Amino acid sequence: MAGNIWVLAEASRGQFSEITFELLALGREVAGQAGAPLEAVLLGSNARELAQKLGAADAVLYADNAALADPVPESAAAALAQLIKERQPAAVLVPLTNISVDVGVVLAAQLGVPFLNYCKDLKAEGGNLAATCVLYGGKMEATVTVSAKPAIIGVLPGARSADAGRSDKVAAVTDVAVSLAEQKLRFKRYLDPAAGDVDITKQNILVSVGRGIQTKDNIELAQELADVMGGAVSGSRPVIDQGWLPLTRQVGKSGMNVKPKLYLALGISGAPEHQEGMRGAQTIIAINTDAKAPIFNIAHYGATVDLLELAPALKEAVEKRKQGA
Ligand SMILES: Cc1cc2nc3c(=O)[nH]c(=O)nc-3n(C[C@H](O)[C@H](O)[C@H](O)COP(=O)(O)OP(=O)(O)OC[C@H]3O[C@@H](n4cnc5c(N)ncnc54)[C@H](O)[C@@H]3O)c2cc1C
Repeated sequence: MAGNIWVLAEASRGQFSEITFELLALGREVAGQAGAPLEAVLLGSNARELAQKLGAADAVLYADNAALADPVPESAAAALAQLIKERQPAAVLVPLTNISVDVGVVLAAQLGVPFLNYCKDLKAEGGNLAATCVLYGGKMEATVTVSAKPAIIGVLPGARSADAGRSDKVAAVTDVAVSLAEQKLRFKRYLDPAAGDVDITKQNILVSVGRGIQTKDNIELAQELADVMGGAVSGSRPVIDQGWLPLTRQVGKSGMNVKPKLYLALGISGAPEHQEGMRGAQTIIAINTDAKAPIFNIAHYGATVDLLELAPALKEAVEKRKQGA
């Protein structure tokens, strides 16, 4: 395959996001299959030292520009487009996170090539790239052969383990110049989420409710269950959007990243954006009436039962167990 494999490194406030290393691990596999070098691209300002930490790549291209100090998709896409035109990579792997989600789509539009989105896997075979992408909130998967050059690919978090993309090696960094005209979008400031009553990122047990809980009043069932289990209640985005739980309890892409010992998912379908925030739980138990719900693909245990029947029965069983009955 002609051309290098590029990974767009994502950093904010002086630190790489985990997905940078996940993409380097995936990119390494693809580069090996394609017989091409793996290059990381870091866009930033005064971040050359950071670039050296991308030792898992064969080389790092570092573009330093004041306009790249903060994550503005328009500026990142403009810089990447220039580098792509000069250096002609075969593929560019873009993180699908809140920070970088818009970069790929703007970049593809600027270059006039398709954007392959929601990819969870990528292979190089027979001179082409084959990407596995999820559709309809994870209910379907499609394998797509990409002929566009460069292939711009939005990769979901969790495609590979981040540890596989870390290296103690000091990366060989090449400085590259980009010129950026004033962009329409300007970064103003970071807003840290307000501290909530319960910090769901610190809980060992989370009873998490999705749209399957059906009404605000039914949240009480989950709360009672969480109380007897010694945990807290969290939820999927629709539950938070309805105002049934505060924003600080939201798990997922636009919420919190949780890693409890036990994640009991009640009536949650398991869309990629939800999985992004809870995939790291030690044990996932899914309760869903739909046996084909994507949550079952990552759950360690599961039952296709009505949560409204299960939650009170489970609460009673835990209470009895605690009383030694
Ligand atoms: C940019 C972006 C960011 C997003 N960020 C987030 C995020 O941070 N967190 C998040 O969660 N989502 C997020 N989403 C939304 C995400 O795509 C899904 O729409 C959402 O996760 C679905 O929530 P859900 O599983 O509760 O609802 P649904 O997908 O509607 O699933 C409800 C499930 O309940 C089951 N069910 C129904 N009744 C019962 C019953 N009685 N007993 C048992 N099971 C039952 C159904 O079978 C179904 O599987 C984001 C989307 C986008 C585009």
